[in-house]
Order: sequence, then C-alpha cells, then structure tokens
Amino acid sequence: MKFGKPAYFSDKKSMPPLILDRFLPPYPFGALSDMLHFSGIEKGWILDPIGNQPLSVIELAQAGFQVFVACNNPILGKILQVMCAAYPISQYQAAIADFGALKRGEKRLESQIKQLYISPCPDCLSDQTEVRFLWKKNQSFPFARELSCKNCGLNGLYKIAEEDRENLSQIGNIQLHRTKVIQRILPGNSDPSIAVKEVIDSYLPRSLAVISSIINKLDSLITTTERKDIIEALLIHVFDYGNMLWGIASSRNRPKQISVPAEFYEFNLWKVLEEAVTRIRIIENAIPFTYFPVLPPDSGGICFYPGRINAIKDIDKLPKFRAVATVLPRPNQALWTYNAVWSGWIWGQDAARKLKGALERRRYDWIWHTQAIRTVFAYTSKLEVPFLAVAPELSNSYILVYLSAASSSKFQLENAAYHPELKSGQFYWYPKQTSINLRSKNELSKNIQNYLALKNAPADYQELLSLFIISETIDQREAFQLEKFDNTLFINTQKLFEDTIQNKEVFLQVDDDQLENAEFWLKNPPTQYQPFYDQIEGCFIRYVLKNQLFSFDEVAYFINQQFPGMLPVSNFYLQRLLSSYCAPFSEEANHYQLKSQEFIQSRKNDLNQLGKIIHSIGIKLGFSVSGDQPIEWSSSDHEPNYRFFITASSIISQFKIKTESNEFETVIIFPGSRAELLSYKLKNDPVYHNHFGKIHFVKFRHLRSMNENPGLNFKTWVQILDSDPAVWQESNQPVLF
Ligand SMILES: [Zn+2]
Repeated sequence: MKFGKPAYFSDKKSMPPLILDRFLPPYPFGALSDMLHFSGIEKGWILDPIGNQPLSVIELAQAGFQVFVACNNPILGKILQVMCAAYPISQYQAAIADFGALKRGEKRLESQIKQLYISPCPDCLSDQTEVRFLWKKNQSFPFARELSCKNCGLNGLYKIAEEDRENLSQIGNIQLHRTKVIQRILPGNSDPSIAVKEVIDSYLPRSLAVISSIINKLDSLITTTERKDIIEALLIHVFDYGNMLWGIASSRNRPKQISVPAEFYEFNLWKVLEEAVTRIRIIENAIPFTYFPVLPPDSGGICFYPGRINAIKDIDKLPKFRAVATVLPRPNQALWTYNAVWSGWIWGQDAARKLKGALERRRYDWIWHTQAIRTVFAYTSKLEVPFLAVAPELSNSYILVYLSAASSSKFQLENAAYHPELKSGQFYWYPKQTSINLRSKNELSKNIQNYLALKNAPADYQELLSLFIISETIDQREAFQLEKFDNTLFINTQKLFEDTIQNKEVFLQVDDDQLENAEFWLKNPPTQYQPFYDQIEGCFIRYVLKNQLFSFDEVAYFINQQFPGMLPVSNFYLQRLLSSYCAPFSEEANHYQLKSQEFIQSRKNDLNQLGKIIHSIGIKLGFSVSGDQPIEWSSSDHEPNYRFFITASSIISQFKIKTESNEFETVIIFPGSRAELLSYKLKNDPVYHNHFGKIHFVKFRHLRSMNENPGLNFKTWVQILDSDPAVWQESNQPVLF
C-alpha cells in the first residue's frame, strides 16, 4: 500500500459527554465528513445503516449532508431525536416541572424521590447537601458518602448518618418493586430470562424503588409531545446512573458486560435527571428530523428509520445515496441488554419485544458479529456507492471481522488510516471492480518494512499486526482468504504475520519479550535517521510558534494532517509535548499557549549565552575551543576531549551524523523543561536509545551553575558533568544491540 493520504482524521473539536457516553463508540468528531470530503463527496444523501453513534449523524447533518439513519434501537433513536430538536433550556425546565408534579398519593413525585436521598451535613446539620453514596457489593448499607454542603461549604468523604439508614428503610417492599419493573416489560412472566435478571440485579433497591415509581407514573404524564420526548430522553440517563456499574476504582468506565464492581457509587436519581439536560442539549441550532418516509428539506437534515435497514426490501424507495458513512460497533452486551429493558420501562412491552433478541442472547462472539456486520455490507453493496467507516476500540480480531465482512460482500478496501494507540480505524471501501487485477506481487514483508522506515522507529507486535492486516487487504493479497470467514481466519492470518515478522534477514526483535509483546525494527534501517518522535516534535514546534492559543484537539489535528494516515500522533506523547512547551491558558478551558521562555527570541538568547559559557569554561580548563555547533574542546593534556551541541528542543536526531565521533565525548546542552520528553523518547524507543544513550545530556541550569563554581577544574568538571541526572535511569534497556 502507499503510505500517505488520507490522513488520520482526529477530533475537529471535542464534544461534551453525551447521555450513554460510556457505552457509545468513541467518535472523533468531524471524521466522517472529513472522510467524505477526502473521497470527493461534498453534499447529498448519506446512509448510516447502523446509527449507533448520534454524534456522527449530527456531525454529518451539520456539515450539510442529508443523512438517512436506520437504527433499530429506540433508545439511541430517542437521544438523537431530542438532541436534534435543540430545545431551549426553558422547555427542559418545563418538562421536568410537569414530570415532578405528578402525584403519587398526596405527594409530588419530585419530593417523594428527593426525600429518599436527604442526607444531613455532619457539621451544620443542614439538609441542603449534595451526596453520592459509596457501596461495597452485596451490602445492605453504603460504607461512606461523598458530601458537599450548600449551607456551610463542607466538602468531603463522611461516614453515613442515621438518616441515611432510615431513608433506606423507607423504600418499601423491594420484591414488589422488582415484580413491577419486570411486569412492565414482560407482563405475566414470572420467570424472566437470565439477561433480564442480570439487569434487575444490577440495580440497588433504592434505585429500583425510584425507577418503579417513575415508570408507574409515566403513562399518566399529560403534557406536550416535546416535553414527553424530553422526559423520555432524560430518563435514559437516570436508568443508566441507577445501576451499580459505576466502579469507584475504575477511572475509565466503559462496560461491555453487566458486571457489578466490588465498590461503586450510588447517585441521587433526581439530581441525575436534572443533570441529564447538559448531556443532551449539546447543539445550538435545531437539525430537521423526520421519520421515514417523510424526508427532510434539501438543505439538510436527518431522516430516521426505526428498524433494521434490510427490512426495507425495495431500495428504490430510498433516497439516491452518495455514500454509506457509519461508525462500526463492537458487540456490547451491556448496552444492548439495558436498552431492551429500558425501552420496555419507557414505552412498555411492545417496545421491549422488538429487542427480544437482546433479552435472550447473552454472548456475542466473533462469528456472530461477523455475520451481523456482513448483513449490513451485503445490503449496502446493492447501492454501488463507497462505504466509509470509523471503527473504534479495535482489536486485531475485530479488524479482521470488518475487513472480512466487507470483502465477502463485494467491497474492496482502498484506503485506511489507523491510530495504534487509540486502536481506531478509518476505512474506505469501494464496490469491487472484478475486471481489474490489482493483486500485489510484493513480498509480504514489504508493507511492514515501508511502515517502519517511514516511522523510523520500532513498532510492537500488535501495531504491526494491525498494519499487516490492513495493508495486505488493500493490496488484495491472495494469501488472505478474507472471503472465507470462520474460526481459522484469525489464526491463519496471525501465522502468516508471525512467519513474516520473524524473518531475521529483514526484521530485528529489539527486546527479549514474548513474541506477542515484542518490538521490531529493520535489519537494514533507512540511511537518514529521523525518528518519529523527533519528526512530530518538529511539526509541533512549527504549530505552537505560529498560533497564539490552541486546544489539544487543534494541535493533534494539525499534526495528523502532516503525517500518513497510518502514523497519527500518540495522545500520550502529545500531552508531554504540551507540558514541555506550553502552559494551560487560564481564561479558556482546555486551551494552551506557549510558555514565555519558549518564545524564539528568548531561546535564541539562551543559546547565545550558553555558547559563551561553554567557550569560557573550555578556556578556563585549558582546552583550545573552536567551532559553533558543535563547539569543540581539544587538548592533548586532557582525556577526554568534548564536543557540545546546544538545543532548545529535544530533537536530538538533528545532531546524529555529527555526534558520531571517536575523538570526542558528545555533550548535548538542553533546557530542563525538555528533560521529561527526552527521557520519554530514550525509554520508549530502543533505537533512539541505542543512538543517543551514551551522550552526556546536560541541562541549561546545570551548565550555568557549573560556570558559577569558582573552584571548577578539569577533575571536578568530569565528576559533576552528569550529576544533575538529566534524563533517564538505566533500566530495562534493550538487549539486542
Ligand atoms: Zn453544612
């Protein structure tokens, strides 16, 4: 394959978290319209045959496309519909007021729910507090509460109060609540499936009591259609925050299975309902939204079909599409089962019955998923248009699922971008041209070689396997039997890869890890050494010198545009670049600006001053000093002699050719704020370490302080040169050099 455009399209801007965010596939906002533009498609009808990420649909509609979405998940459909309406905040407030005013006996629903969570401040005893409770699995009471008091400002973790225990005893007959929430989805069924039980068991009794009183009153809510829609969307958030899948320990909470963590949070569900507003009111201007067969205006909008796309048998009834553009899902048992149950809770048994499959099936394996995705490809292949997809959270077996499902449905992969750190792919399929034979005649190792040469740095097994699968599919490799999808496909492909990568004539393993964790490099590396980390740093510097104020996403997007789509910048590394060169901008969240000491003039002054210091120390120690970059100290009386390079960046490879010398020890003088970056490169890239590991790295401040040392002589110089340990400690260094 040719490594180059399309670039990897990262987030154009970051969007606030959406309802169900933790279940939805991560989507780089803007990617699908970038991919369409790259493919020369600027306007017209686009089909999303899966509709499992509302943000991608919204983004396409905002970019001026007309989007046809087929989605058989009414929960996701409702979120999309309410988001598109962009109701004013007043409409949300009115909806919540109508809902809260529902009467349960003498009491308003709102006060009845709020009362269950009243938790007085341990200090001032006010009940004007915000609380979330901390639980251990299978306990009857929380073990602590996180509280902030609006009255006295107290804030922290406290033990639970007597009132907290009393509240829990007020929730009534839990068996009755359980029966009610099950009957709502499966009337007359006293023995629900394991999946349904799993869902119910993932709710605490108090949450189940709240949910049961909510769904009990839902049908009697008499209000406008708009407000009813709003309440239904907000309740999805409540149902999600009501379950126990909110682990205290896990920072990143992306459940795929319904499995209750050992310790978790319980939230005040009325507060959750109110907070849900900011998670759905995230666009300013409404987007026209219609239900098929009604179509939105030519100026753009969304046409929603609440079912599977292949239920529409007559494709002539559909608009004339320019392309398919979607986010490919990974199976998510948790999301699908919850959504089936929640639709029952909101809309009753008929809605739940539509998703019956999810209530019965508990495991989604590789073959199941390939077949499910294949029906989408098979259907859309009849449209004879490109199929563009973002595929996040990929493992190598899922890459194969998608590529094989597409290949066996008359699609040919022509382009791809891939983010190894995020494991996120961007694929461009076109209807297969059977007449042309494009099959590659190159060695199987060729794409991996080209990739490593371009990266100019080693890569690990998983990264190279992804690259191998994608690039060889683009090259229509005969050895790849993608059309045949069975259990042997992954194993065979992996074996082909392992045979290739273990060819010692071409590749080197640079560590002594197990094969599946190992890193690889080229036996014959490119003559010009410009490692990836340094290339990116150069590009980063150009950007931050030109722009006054920028967000993480903006820099990442810029850098990614300059590199091949298979080589986007790692977020982890970019964060380090930002901390080294930039400071957060206090007046705008998530924005950065260059630190003042990093301005060009300021760094030029540093370099000048340090050049003079090196000169004067050299002369003081009895060397003859010459040159500029490098400055050389030579003397026949002293051993060793030195050569100095001064840099404001951590792009050490710029000195590579000049640093190769037997006569001199090389010293690189660099700003202390670059230490962590440099350390990172040396630790993470064994080839980098091999080139530069023996150099003396000396910080600006250390050189200045040595210069101020009145007793400095050659002996002390040698002793203290490396005493402000610059960058890295020797550990776990590679073995094969
Ligand atoms: Zn207080």
